[in-house]
Formats: sequence, structure tokens, C-alpha cells
Amino acid sequence: MKFDKKKFTEETERILRAEFGSDLRSADTRELYNAVSKAVMRIALPAAPSGEGKRGAYFSAEFLMGRAIFSNLLNLGLLEDVQSALKSVGESLNRFEEVEDAALGNGGLGRLAACYLESAATMDIPLDGYGIRYRYGLFKQTFVDGYQHEEGDDWTRWGDPWSIPVERDAVIVEFADRKVKAVPCDMPIFGYRNGVVNNLRLWSSEPVKPFDFNTFNEMKGERIAQENYDVTKICDVLYPNDNTMVGKMLRLRQQYFLVSASLQDILRKEKAKEHDLRELYRYRCFQLNDTHPVLAIPELLRLLEREGLCFEEAFEVASKCFNFTNHTIMAEALEKWDALALSDILPDVYKEIVRCQQKLESDGLDRGQFYIIRDNVVHMANLAIFVSKKVNGVAEIHTEILKKDTFANWYGAFPEKFVNVTNGVTPRRWLLLNNPKMAKLIDSRIGTEWHTDLGQLEALRPHIDGMRASFRKIKRENKERLAAYIKAHEGIELPPDFIFDVQVKRLHEYKRQLLNALSILYFYFGIKEGEINSFPPTAFLFGAKAAPGYYNAKAIIKFINEIARLVNSDEEVADRMKVVFVQNYNVSYAEKIVCAADISEQISMAGMEASGTSNMKFMLNGTVTLGTLDGANVEICREAGEENEYIFGATVEEVAAIKRFYCPREILEGDPRLKRAVRTLIDGTFPDEKGMLRKLYESLITDYDADRYLVLYDFADYIRVKQQLLHDYGTKEFERKCLVNLVSAGKFSADRSVKEYAQKIWDLQ
Ligand SMILES: *Cc1c(COP(=O)(O)O)cnc(C)c1O
Repeated sequence: MKFDKKKFTEETERILRAEFGSDLRSADTRELYNAVSKAVMRIALPAAPSGEGKRGAYFSAEFLMGRAIFSNLLNLGLLEDVQSALKSVGESLNRFEEVEDAALGNGGLGRLAACYLESAATMDIPLDGYGIRYRYGLFKQTFVDGYQHEEGDDWTRWGDPWSIPVERDAVIVEFADRKVKAVPCDMPIFGYRNGVVNNLRLWSSEPVKPFDFNTFNEMKGERIAQENYDVTKICDVLYPNDNTMVGKMLRLRQQYFLVSASLQDILRKEKAKEHDLRELYRYRCFQLNDTHPVLAIPELLRLLEREGLCFEEAFEVASKCFNFTNHTIMAEALEKWDALALSDILPDVYKEIVRCQQKLESDGLDRGQFYIIRDNVVHMANLAIFVSKKVNGVAEIHTEILKKDTFANWYGAFPEKFVNVTNGVTPRRWLLLNNPKMAKLIDSRIGTEWHTDLGQLEALRPHIDGMRASFRKIKRENKERLAAYIKAHEGIELPPDFIFDVQVKRLHEYKRQLLNALSILYFYFGIKEGEINSFPPTAFLFGAKAAPGYYNAKAIIKFINEIARLVNSDEEVADRMKVVFVQNYNVSYAEKIVCAADISEQISMAGMEASGTSNMKFMLNGTVTLGTLDGANVEICREAGEENEYIFGATVEEVAAIKRFYCPREILEGDPRLKRAVRTLIDGTFPDEKGMLRKLYESLITDYDADRYLVLYDFADYIRVKQQLLHDYGTKEFERKCLVNLVSAGKFSADRSVKEYAQKIWDLQ
């Protein structure tokens, strides 16, 4: 992109004056952010829309975009130009670190959608995102007395200069009880230095009727206000549940709102081009990111029938257009809706689902094994599998579990539908942007082609020994930067020469933050009792949000915060241990953390983590994994060599066998120090006015199905491997392992993932 510094500065000044009545000297951060961003948009947006040809649509209830400004500037090739333009007027891009993240997602699933859009644009794959423009994103988290406290995330408080409202594309979405206007707002997705601009279209809900002054005058004002409130609130807030299904009708309305608006929009455009809707699959394909947008299937059937197709024709079209990504095998996350409630608010959509069920029966599939509706419950994953052309899991081990276990019957009937596409992350945000010095170091050895062809990192292998010193220095600087940030935001001092042992991800029992927490107490008591004589100085870092209604997850946060208080206030261990749980873990925090970590904790119970993507971010930044053979960890081991990771714990096969005769209490009795660590949950070591910690204790020891996630079973092996890792740290061999991880991370580029989707699933290009 050609950059004219003078013109850019003038444009910025003009916007400052026209929109804020300020100028470069007096502008506050918000004004400057909006003016700079809008000036860039004017330079970067192409005059003409993108051309003809089949396009893919990525339907997702979540897009965890993070901050736009830095990654957009990077991709446009303007990062340095804009930085220097700002510098010459006494300003700096760094000011925009205050800008709010766009957190329109919960965790991995939403972040994956964001990475895929960026990678598709970079790989010149015609893929657009369709989602919801939540008024409030994922809640903001603080800790009060060690407990999670939630506040609304008013993410557009800073304005949203990277989006364009497109009023002219508004459509009406109909529910049985009301109509809603859906208005799109487009976020351009810039490919990395290739001029490609794809689109993320996010829908907002508005009242259909313009404000009716006459009715208002007739004293019905209150009713109108109420109606307007009801419809606009559809998009008010992102449901903060990650990997759990909560059967709220407002959530169902959100889902339908998203898919109906998107499909109406797409069909309108196809009709304008005079394309035959019977051949829609020649022009479009749709990826369903988990079951959240699966109502798109009956909605497309309904819309096509309204256009004159019969059910069989419409079904044929749908079965060539839709593909479905499964993200979890956990029963509590598989979406089910009450059939009566669904038919109440979406009667015509429900009728289409019933027809799908009837088709399934008339196709001769056994009713005992195959159903979409059963006992008045609609099973969204089954609907998706039955109609979709392809169904994919998100890591090899996960896809195998889908085929052998979760959807074994469907796999038996439709083996050709099932494919694997292992997740990936974009190396632009997760190396070039968050770790620029490391990127420069790599450039200096192998050039820059790896930016868009991550497999080329392999060419670094012969340079590993020669890079160790620079790698060490850069990692050290990143740790200093993170430590300064944590000091400023959490008030805790982390010496950068400590080992940074990091676990950041949503708080969930299956992810086993509790296992990590208990290991810290285990080491702490060991040191205090003189049983552990040498312990390398280690900082244990956590970052995680818990769903507001997830009691045990919140209890684990409280537990870790209490452990942090105990450890950090104990002079006796101050030179060996620190514990910090950072508040409000989000994409921007992740960017700072993953480049500063020495250990990547990926310790879910085997079989539970479909893929994981933070494991990939850490690997790409040269961090060893301490983990189980779960999700993409398996492939990380294969790529880097298992000798370069720290693997422990029961395997998927072993988990099933262990669970048959598992007694957690026996394990406790066999390990007095573990017992002491666990008993801190009930012995008064920590304040527990609300009885939360006691509940955790019960979930580990006394409940039915106690220790469901084998925290205690895997504990001894975890400690063994963790101690080995801490012992290895700082050696030449250990530094080699870090670099081998970086060099072997090529497979985990989202570029590779989207190309696989384009080839195996979408038939694009
Ligand atoms: C990458 C990412 C995740 C996913 O983390 P996992 O460890 O794979 O669950 C969640 N939240 C944020 C902010 C991320 O950047």
C-alpha cells in the first residue's frame, strides 16, 4: 500500500476537526484513535467490491476479534508508516493500547472464527463472516476479595471506526410474536499485504416501525417503549457460557436472528444477480461454527420454498451448501431445544425441522439410533449432521472420538461426511504482531516468506544453536514487558528471572486449573516443611474467566486467588514462588502473555479438549508444552517430537478404563502432602464464608462421580513431569526444545486450516 505521510496527517487532522472539533495537539486518545483509524480506512478500502465467483460464509455466534487497529495496520503494511507519521506530530501508536478489545466471543471457538477470517483474506480465499453485533461483549472481570466480579463490556464506548453500518441492506426477521429489523454493520477483513478485503457482517436488531409519534401522543408511549426494548435487546449481550448449553429463549432468538438475516441478505444478492437458487451451491457455501447457527438449515429450506422450490429441491440445495464443525464432545454443550418452545416462537422453522425428521425416517434410517426430534426435544447436532455435506472435528484425536464414539451411528451411515481439519492460529497476530523482535530475528535468518507460509519455519532448524542467545534475550525482554504490565494492572511484582509457568484459557473443570493449583500448594508445603530443598524460582500465572453461573469454576478462581495471597505474602518462599491470577484475560492480554511464557500448561483430562488453540500460540512463540495427550497437543508432539514436550497423565483409552473402578479417596490416603493440599479446601486455611471451597472439596472427594476429571488420579504423574521440567529449565537442551517448538509450528497456521477447508469442504478455488 502506498503511503503519503503528509496526506495521511492532513486527513487525520481534517477528521479531528470535522468530527470532534479538536486537532492533533489537543485530541484525547479516543478522538485520535477514531481519526487515525478512519483516515486509514479511507486509504485502505477498495473503491470497487470484490468480483464474481463462489463465496463461502462462516456463520458463527461468536467472533473474538480483539483489537483491530494494530493488526489492520500490520496487514495493510502501514504499521511503521503510521507510527512514524504520528511520531512526527509528537504522538505514538502505543496510546491505543487503552482501546477496548472487541470481545464478541467467549474463548477458543470465537477466536478461531477471527483467525480464520484473517487467514482466508491472506490466502485470497473468498470467505465472509456473519455474526451478531452484541451491544455488550464478554463481561469485564475483576477480583473483589478473591471472587470474580463481572461488569458489562461496553466495547463501542471508544467508537467503532473500523465498521461501516449498511442501512440499505437491512432486512426484517420474523418471530411468531413480533418482527425485528436487522441492520448490518460491516468490518473489513484485510489480507496480509495482498490487497484482499473480505468482510465480517455483524447484525444489530432495531424496531421495525419508525417511532410513531401519533400513537405515542395517544398515551401508548409506554407500550411502544416496551416493544422497542424487547426487540432491540435481542442483540444486547453475548451469552457468557463457554462449552455449556443454557436453554434460554432469548439465546434461541439470537441464533435465529443471525441466520435469518444472513440468509435473506445472501439470497437477495443471488437473486439480484439472477442466479438460479436451485444452483445456489454453485455460488455459495456455508460453514456452521458449532450448533449455534444450525437454525440456518431449516431457515434456508423455508426461504427456498418461499421462492417456489419444493421441500425435496430445497433439501437438495441445503445438503450441498451446509457444512458443520463440531467443537466438543461434552454432553452439557450439545445443543438441544424444547420442541414446543421452538415451535411457539418459530412455527414455520419448526415445520421444516419436522420435515427433516420425516425425511430421515423415509430414508430408512433406524428410528432408535437416528433422530432429530425425540421426546419433544430438538437435537441440533443431529440436524446438522443429517443435512450437511461435511462434518468436521477440530483435531485428529477429536475427529476420531466423533467417529468412534459421539456420532458413531452417524459415521456408520455416512462415513464420507466425516473429515478432520485441525485448528490453527494466524501467525500475523500471534507472532509478527505480539512478538515483533522474534519475528525480526526469524526474518534475519530465513527472510520473510514464512509470514504467509509458516511451514518455512523448518528452514530455521539448522540455525537453532546459533539463535539460542538472541532467543533468550528476546524472551527475557518479553518477560520484563509482561512483568511491568502485571505490576501496573495487578499490583504484583514478578521477577523476570523467575520461570513463567502459564495457564491461560477459560475456567472449566475439564481444563483442570485445579490440578495446577493443587500442585502449587504441594510445592509450597514441600518447601515449607523442608522436604523440597531445591526449587527453581517460578511464577505461576493464571488468566481465565468463569461463566457467571458456573459455581465450581468461580470456586476455583477464589481458591487460586487465596493460594496467591498465601504464597505471595510468605517471606520464606518469596525468592522461589509467586502466584498471580490476572484479571480480565482477553485477546490483548494473551498477546502479551504468550510471548513471555516459559511453560504452556495444556493439562485437560484426555478426551475433553477438542483441539485447543492457545497451545499453538505458545508453541509458535517458542514455549514447551506441559500437557496431556489431548486435542492438538497430540499433533504438537508429533510435529516437535515428544522428547521436546513434557507429557503426562492418562490417555483417552486409559481414562475410560480408570473410571470404571476409580476411588479418589484412596489416592489421597496414599499421598499425605497431596492430602494436605486438598484439605486446605475445608480445614480453615482459607476464608470460605460462602462454602465455595467446601463444594470443591466435595466435587473431588465425596460427590457422586467424584473427581470426574481425574485431577487426583493424574496428580502424581503431573508433579513428576513438572519437576523434571523445572529442573531442565535454563539448560542448553531446554533452550533447544523451545526453539524446536517454534521451528515445528508450521502446521498450526490457520492458513493451512483454511486452505484445507477450501479444498476438502468448500470447493472454493
Ligand atoms: C486463544 C484464546 C483462547 C483459547 O484458549 P484455549 O487454551 O485453547 O482454550 C481463549 N481466550 C483467548 C482470549 C484466546 O486468545
